[in-house]
Amino acid sequence: MQLKPIRQWGWTIPDDDLILIAGPCSAETREQTLASCQGAARQGAHMLRAGIWKPRTRPDAFAGVGEEGLPWIVEAGQTTGCPVMIEVASARHVELALKAGVDILWIGARSTANPFTVQEIADVLNGVDVPVLVKNPVNPDLDLWLGAIERIALAGVHRLAAIFRGFSVYKPGIYRNAPMWELPIELHRQLPALDIIVDPSHITGNRSLIGYVAQHAIDLDFSGFMIETHIQPDQAWSDAAQQLTPMDLGRTLAGLVHRRPNVDDPEFLANLEALRYDIDNLDQEIIRSLGQRMEVSREIGLFKRENEVTILQMNRWSNIFESRVQTALKAGLSEAFARDLIQAIHNESIRQQGGVMNAELEMTPKDQRDLSEMDQPVENQI
Ligand code: PEP
Ligand code: MN
Repeated sequence: MQLKPIRQWGWTIPDDDLILIAGPCSAETREQTLASCQGAARQGAHMLRAGIWKPRTRPDAFAGVGEEGLPWIVEAGQTTGCPVMIEVASARHVELALKAGVDILWIGARSTANPFTVQEIADVLNGVDVPVLVKNPVNPDLDLWLGAIERIALAGVHRLAAIFRGFSVYKPGIYRNAPMWELPIELHRQLPALDIIVDPSHITGNRSLIGYVAQHAIDLDFSGFMIETHIQPDQAWSDAAQQLTPMDLGRTLAGLVHRRPNVDDPEFLANLEALRYDIDNLDQEIIRSLGQRMEVSREIGLFKRENEVTILQMNRWSNIFESRVQTALKAGLSEAFARDLIQAIHNESIRQQGGVMNAELEMTPKDQRDLSEMDQPVENQI
């Protein structure tokens, strides 16, 4: 995949700046679009956004002003000197956006989840040199996200990047869309040349948490942000709770600590190396200890087999689980991590005991693999 980083898309972004895309969730009126975009640009936005076709979950929600808004967003670009982008969800949207002079397109989370839609957009983009950003799908499926990026890349689009906006959940907790950071991190590992922009507005759904998530995005070394900015957020026709005024956008950005992934200060590097040496040794020790623990599990398996006792004794397992969680909490681990870890150790222990207790069932290596995969998350590939 041939990818051009956003900084080489043809618009100047100072080296020290994180990339900032800002502007309203929706273009509502010409005045609101211009004031919101101009305010965002004054606060340092390098690129402007506004939705004119809004993929609303319920039919009674504001679905965007449609085509009528195209000239407003183009005018916002002309008056600020910033490139402008909108969401497209069909071939017709792409054609209208390009005809109106929109600079950049993005594919929304609901569209990314549908390969037919993405392919329709890819087909109409074939041979068109316009930059495209692909939001993650609403469901946490890395292959679906990668597949959408590949479809657009195969159409010959090289100015390509991703936007991370979190994943839909049945019951929103503190976040509107759960940020399962391991997915964009894995996308970054697989496609290091692809810029990933984080969208704290749609992750949080709540303007008071935007700075916190934006700082986390910096700390995980993502390329920049897309932040919804509205001249009067409380009156917004969509996503009112998560939009910032241009002033608050400026304040939020000023509160962020810029951090770099690498430095060449020899003292820092020497200290880091010493700490990493400790980490490497501790990891070795943990793995060796787990190996020893499984050896004992197998021994217990043989013993239970001789005495015709089941692998699982529920009382013992309940006691182990609760007492280990308590020990882990005292050792400074989080409860969620402790529960996952102990569960994983126990699953492996059951597998190991099953192996020695039922050795004569002589499973083929493939059967063993299938059995051990029964505990793994199901892959969503079709
Ligand atoms: C948006 O950016 O306004 C939007 C609809 O986002 P998403 O596709 O992430 O829900
Ligand atoms: Mn929105």
